[in-house]
Amino acid sequence: MKQLDHMLEVKDMKTHFYTEKGMIPAVDGVSFHVDEGELVGIVGESGSGKSVTALSIMNLIEQPGKIVDGEILYNGEDLLQVSEKKMESIRGNDISMIFQEPLTSLNPVLTIGKQITEAIRAHQKVSKKEAKKQAIDLLHRVRIPRAESVYSSYPHVLSGGMRQRVMIAIALSCHPKLLIADEPTTALDVTIQAQIMQLLKEISKDIGAAIMLITHDLGVIAEMVDRVIVMYGGKIVEQTDVHTLFKSPEHPYTKALIESTPRFHTLEDEFYSIQGSVLQTHESIQGCKYEPRCPYAMDVCKKEEPLLEDMNEGHKVRCWLHDQ
Ligand code: SF4
Repeated sequence: MKQLDHMLEVKDMKTHFYTEKGMIPAVDGVSFHVDEGELVGIVGESGSGKSVTALSIMNLIEQPGKIVDGEILYNGEDLLQVSEKKMESIRGNDISMIFQEPLTSLNPVLTIGKQITEAIRAHQKVSKKEAKKQAIDLLHRVRIPRAESVYSSYPHVLSGGMRQRVMIAIALSCHPKLLIADEPTTALDVTIQAQIMQLLKEISKDIGAAIMLITHDLGVIAEMVDRVIVMYGGKIVEQTDVHTLFKSPEHPYTKALIESTPRFHTLEDEFYSIQGSVLQTHESIQGCKYEPRCPYAMDVCKKEEPLLEDMNEGHKVRCWLHDQ
């Protein structure tokens, strides 16, 4: 049997949106992988394509969007070629997703217990009694105090942090191999953010699940992940291990992101912010997508887009400054 290189391998994926303003290449030829148990972060400003990348992997892109090219190999099987029934089973049993705002993901008219037991029973043939036992175990596992009482509560009576813990419990109910977390703590206050991130990290280690963390926050990346993918304008602009990213970032956009993150910026008297505005998704730029904001831009940057090139082992950069 052929040895698989990676658990998840995304190859040259393109997801486009067809709007009145024209075609928007929200994800424009993205390739990366996630291995078993690995913690991988995708970072970028809003509009970089990071959330569309996550939704594409889950096959949850809706009109007017469409995945137009590429492969999404999960254990060697292309998720773009499987039936909707098979994809539903993969979404339930192998890959789970946690979204930014748990209140919109939870059903307001069903109790927490009902929602977790439904998730359990959708993927396992167990009695109602056994599903309830598993649901309460899961609530304990995500460290919800008074789990039995929360089991009978409705979502609106819980705090944002508790609701996100419930969402994590639901995501874990199928024992996923990969958990995709899209800005899971953005709506929460800072202390709760740290607790939820710590919980995610511990649980992924416990159950051996990989995490793909989508965030705009480099502080979260620094604490959570092993490997980082930086996206801008629908493309990967830098990819490396977390240590190298912070020690020797190479792409001007990565450097600017680090400088503009309060806890990393090195200027003593002035807070740095990235010049210019985020590339509007309908803007068509022939050369490097970052050129209008880049302080190092050269003539070639306007005319031709650089490729994502290997600098060192596992460190890839898309920038003419590093062209061999
Ligand atoms: Fe800046 Fe040019 Fe590099 Fe783009 S290719 S990031 S414009 S130096």
